[in-house]
Amino acid sequence: MAQLIKKIKGTEDIMPKESYRWQFLENLMRRQANAYGYKEVRTPVFEQTSLFARGVGETTDVVQKEMYTFSTKGDDSITLRPEGTAGAARAFLEHGVYNDGLPSKQYYLTTCYRYEKPQAGRQREFHQFGIEVFGTKNPAADAEVICLVKGLFDLLGLTGIRLEINSIGCPHCREKYHQKLKEYFSQYKDRLCETCLGRLDRNPMRIIDCKSPVCSEVAKDAPRMLDFLCDECKEHFDSVKSFLDTAGVEYEINPSIVRGLDYYTKTVFEFVSDNIGAQGTVCGGGRYDGLLEELGGQPTPSLGCAMGMERLLLLMDNSGIEIPQPDTTDLYIASMGEIAQLKAFELADKVRKTGLSAQCDIVGRGLRPQMKFADKIGAKFSLVIGDNEIAENKAEVKNMETGEKFSVSLNQFDKDFTAIVIETQTQKIAGI
Ligand code: ATP
Ligand code: MG
Repeated sequence: MAQLIKKIKGTEDIMPKESYRWQFLENLMRRQANAYGYKEVRTPVFEQTSLFARGVGETTDVVQKEMYTFSTKGDDSITLRPEGTAGAARAFLEHGVYNDGLPSKQYYLTTCYRYEKPQAGRQREFHQFGIEVFGTKNPAADAEVICLVKGLFDLLGLTGIRLEINSIGCPHCREKYHQKLKEYFSQYKDRLCETCLGRLDRNPMRIIDCKSPVCSEVAKDAPRMLDFLCDECKEHFDSVKSFLDTAGVEYEINPSIVRGLDYYTKTVFEFVSDNIGAQGTVCGGGRYDGLLEELGGQPTPSLGCAMGMERLLLLMDNSGIEIPQPDTTDLYIASMGEIAQLKAFELADKVRKTGLSAQCDIVGRGLRPQMKFADKIGAKFSLVIGDNEIAENKAEVKNMETGEKFSVSLNQFDKDFTAIVIETQTQKIAGI
């Protein structure tokens, strides 16, 4: 026998028996995005490497260590998207979306790729739901993005997720802060990890985000950006908080959130849970007022956030939230003999045209295995046809749950079956 080929490390299959969980989540996300007027954007899975180098930032972990980068036959460097914002921002500029009226509110549901050490809540291929708002610097937009996400968690029945917010200022006030940070971290040069030593000159704020225990220990007493905000950034942050207060959204201020993108400005935030182990950040985002300019566009203040679908599903599991099982097939038509199999094929099609779902035998099995299969797929009703039923144009539909039987005419089977389904549903609702 040929050897089985296995999936690649850090990737997961989503099998038919569990895909309904994903669809449930995706449907709610789409619904929530629509409720706020966000429209879906779909961008390619690979882009020019330079897009991420510029759009995510050269000094970030993502660009320095985590990207899947390849050379094409023509020697171009391309990268599998490690996140969704850079592609959405590129497409926004490339398609001149700023002419369609701003703000442009977009969402995406996509796979992302990062070369990381796989563990619970951390994969090499993972899924994100993200939203972006292009073209507004108003703090109401920051609050709207946060409220959309909070509302989604509420819809899912999730509790105990903390919202942590911070402001990391603008290039103007950050200059002074960077200076202070450099001075602070320079005292601990002998303790910082190699990556952070490299960050010391170029982007000292990244050190605060370092996952190494020693660096985080050193970073604990580092100066806080909040104490260096200019008047405009301070006002902006205060206003975001007022909008959140008005919306009744609770938050904590966490001065150590700096986020992984280089072009974040002003508001940054994370939704964190203690219920899913070490990878507790379910959603992260913030304002990136400098990004579109960095990508060659006009200055376009913008913001967004993304959540990890795997971590969200894990959290739902750990919180005991049950995802409704999908509807099973309404009708299974079993047949005996070749002529009956043809008839079953025809009837199943008629039923489907009424909007109900139906299956018939496509294996050529005997009656018993067919009925076993009907049980296995959880068919709500079944119908058995053979030569007699066809000759008499009559058969019996069986309610698989109650055993109740209904006589039907094969001539107008679609009509008869619809009536049975409606009657059964009415009785169920009335509690008969
Ligand atoms: P982390 O600190 O966990 O590495 P991050 O800052 O790299 O997260 P973002 O780039 O902000 O994460 O991505 C947004 C969200 O995507 C995260 O909050 C998380 O839920 C999810 N996510 C990020 N990387 C992974 C991964 N490798 N596997 C699964 N989910 C991920
Ligand atoms: Mg990461």
